[in-house]
Amino acid sequence: MSIDPHLAYARRMDRADGLAHYRKRFVGADRELVYFDGNSLGRPPVSAVERIEGFLLEDWGGRLIRGWDEAWMQLPFEIGDRIGRAVIQAKAGQTVIGDSTTVLLYKLARAAVDAQLARDPSRREIVIDTDNFPTDRYVLEGIARERGARLRWIDVDTASGVTPEQLAAACGPETALVVLSHVAYRSAYLADARELTRIAHDAGALILWDLCHSAGSVPIEADRWKFDLAVGCTYKYLNGGPGSPAFAYVRDDLQDVLAQPIQGWMGTADVFAMGPEYEPARGIRRFLSGTPPIVGMLAMEETLAMIEEAGMPAIRAKSMALTAFTIVVAEEWLAPLGVTLASPLDPDERGGHVTLNHPAMREVTARLWQQDVIPDYRDPGGLRIGLSPLSTSFEEVHRGLVATRDTLRTVLTERAGLA
Ligand SMILES: *Cc1c(COP(=O)(O)O)cnc(C)c1O
Repeated sequence: MSIDPHLAYARRMDRADGLAHYRKRFVGADRELVYFDGNSLGRPPVSAVERIEGFLLEDWGGRLIRGWDEAWMQLPFEIGDRIGRAVIQAKAGQTVIGDSTTVLLYKLARAAVDAQLARDPSRREIVIDTDNFPTDRYVLEGIARERGARLRWIDVDTASGVTPEQLAAACGPETALVVLSHVAYRSAYLADARELTRIAHDAGALILWDLCHSAGSVPIEADRWKFDLAVGCTYKYLNGGPGSPAFAYVRDDLQDVLAQPIQGWMGTADVFAMGPEYEPARGIRRFLSGTPPIVGMLAMEETLAMIEEAGMPAIRAKSMALTAFTIVVAEEWLAPLGVTLASPLDPDERGGHVTLNHPAMREVTARLWQQDVIPDYRDPGGLRIGLSPLSTSFEEVHRGLVATRDTLRTVLTERAGLA
């Protein structure tokens, strides 16, 4: 029997892939298991094992409290600047590792809304889309309640995201802040961040970008696109590990005019002065609150070294090739079974994952997990295939799609038999 042409293609792509050698630098990539969820939790870098062990034995174990003075106090800024340089194209001093994405979103959005209200009390609207990530919607709902602001919802299709026309229609003289995701978590729709930022600014609004699903997968030009504020995850495409702390970007000219609401000692001008009152630091430090989670910052440095070496353009090129391959094979094998594409077909409008819809996908996902094929499931009926350019191979994608096809067929046959 001749070899499946998709498998032959996958093997050819792996041989020609200039990033293929990174795969063996991730724990578990040598196993048969198919990992399609690096957009929720990236695989651990192999070198992180040594890094974390070394940290426990030498740094924490050996330096003890001295470690703070010697290195750890600076780590949130050092790693922030590395993310700024390699991942979001922000010049130094504007990016910092802080709390979770949720908490950073709260801090930055509250600071932005307060600054706008102080400038013009009629700027009371926060623009957000109905399909934004739940934490974004919930955080803003809370801020609106606290500050007497109003949410203005942009209704979006779950298979795409916010368009420039929709944003222009939603923004006006009452808009204080716009909060959008660069890549939609459900559909992978890639927003035109530069154009949407321009539209928000034309209306006199500030904009806060959620970069969780794009950081490390899609190139971002925070400075050139004139972002005001941004937050992003480090445990997805930056492989920082479960719950690793998020990063925040605050454009330099905004730093000293924004006041963030969680006034902690780590955000003060002189941390060890321990003065009677909160006096915020100048610059990016003021967006910190409490003691930085150092252990959670170690693994992401290993991925950052790989991203610095590979470069975001090559990572994006592989990401586009992986999603395109997934779509071609899904079209041939899965569309005849009733599966529809819930991600943009145009690669320029698509981030790093592909969502395939079918009413049976919840059950298909559960059965795939039992076979060590790990996508994830998002309502309504979406099987999400996350593709991590540094650790996913084309042959791994092929293997996962074979399993998806066969499992969906089995589920459909069983259901037909029951009917
Ligand atoms: C993953 C993700 C988050 C996660 O926030 P946490 O505070 O880390 O739980 C937020 N926003 C988007 C768009 C995400 O994809």
